[in-house]
Amino acid sequence: YEYVMIWLNVQKFKVINEIGGFDLGNQTLKYVYSEIRNHLLDNEYVARMFSDNFAILMLYDNQQKLEYRLNRCFEDINDYESNSDYKFRFSFTTGIYLIDETDIPITQIKDRAHAARKLVSPQDNDLCVYHYYDNTIRIQMLNEKDIENRAYLALQNGEFEVYFQPKYSVKKHQLSGAEALVRWNHPTRGFLSPAEFIPVFENNGFITHVDLFVFQTVCQMIRKRLDAHQAVVPVSINMSRMHFSHPHFLNEYIKIRNKYNIPFKYLELELTESIVFENIEMFINIIKSIHQAGFMCSMDDFGSGYSSLSMLKNLEVDTIKLDKSFFATKDMSYEKEKIIVKNIIDMAKALNISTVAEGIETHEQVNFLEHTECDLIQGFVYSRPIPIQNFNDLLDSQL
Ligand code: C2E
Ligand code: CA
Ligand code: CA
Repeated sequence: YEYVMIWLNVQKFKVINEIGGFDLGNQTLKYVYSEIRNHLLDNEYVARMFSDNFAILMLYDNQQKLEYRLNRCFEDINDYESNSDYKFRFSFTTGIYLIDETDIPITQIKDRAHAARKLVSPQDNDLCVYHYYDNTIRIQMLNEKDIENRAYLALQNGEFEVYFQPKYSVKKHQLSGAEALVRWNHPTRGFLSPAEFIPVFENNGFITHVDLFVFQTVCQMIRKRLDAHQAVVPVSINMSRMHFSHPHFLNEYIKIRNKYNIPFKYLELELTESIVFENIEMFINIIKSIHQAGFMCSMDDFGSGYSSLSMLKNLEVDTIKLDKSFFATKDMSYEKEKIIVKNIIDMAKALNISTVAEGIETHEQVNFLEHTECDLIQGFVYSRPIPIQNFNDLLDSQL
């Protein structure tokens, strides 16, 4: 091999954003970039791909030399003067593809390095963990290829199904909403979880079709119930970032909403927090257009990564969904987490933003939330996501 492609991820980068804010985050990325650049030869290259991910094209001799060079680079990155009390120690994970096929597109070369990187489980103490692309990754990528190839057919065949996960009010323990979540009932591979196919569809753009299918199914369901004078609750629908590359990304949503004539109070679009990190101005504009169109808007996975409490006031969302990771400790014994959650909820309350706690599994957690101003709970403690028929039955029996 003459060259290797390296996919590089900065570990715990979100901490920098949380502590130092956005500007420091951006500065840091520039710093990391220029340090890498300084360690490369003339015919070697580095580019930032997105957020804290870099792709590096390096000449290859042998594995030992390569890792030696990279380690030197990472050590140098950590060798800086800090004028604050706090000195961040950078650590990294990498996926490495020894380029054995030179006639494939560069994007595919990059994808292989990226795929290898995704399989790394970082250890806290390591400066860098290296993971090399190999045959098992190749098989996994073939699986992904199958997912890609069958997507259109699957949508036509009705293999995608919409599940509903109920949300309950904290104060009254009453069914008060739901989130629509997609499932793929694959003819040979059985039920696929979103984790298996959504990243693939986000890569190739097919996710926008899935999202609209989910949205349409939700509108259909609400219309049917309204016509039958049955109880209805607001439903939130996930909206992938892929939509935002189209200038009129809301047109299809508006068309479908109009077709079924659904009152706007029943429809909320969920955007994931990580979009904020990529471009906060863009995020603000997206929220504006969603509101102009009449829909409600929620920020999903709040606190999972890049956003900080102080940013909340600039984002005019109606709802924030506290990320599952806050509730990873099921017995709520972790004081620090409780304080953060309380702070977020208080801040949201002050800004008139409603809050949903997600991933709630235990009564201890419900108990804790009852002592906050949190509005809704979504989690296994009440219900897993359920098929549409079961959700209809639940609405009929509880409301
Ligand atoms: P998400 O939007 O954060 O959805 C919540 C996920 O948390 C769901 O996983 C849900 O089943 C899970 N969950 C809910 N309560 C609990 C709990 O108490 N404990 C635990 N451990 N998990 C809980 P699911 O359905 O597998 O979806 C995963 C992700 O896939 C979603 O995360 C969302 O990002 C994406 N997704 C699902 N449906 C769609 C869709 O229609 N469009 C788009 N763009 N993304 C979707
Ligand atoms: Ca969601
Ligand atoms: Ca979420």
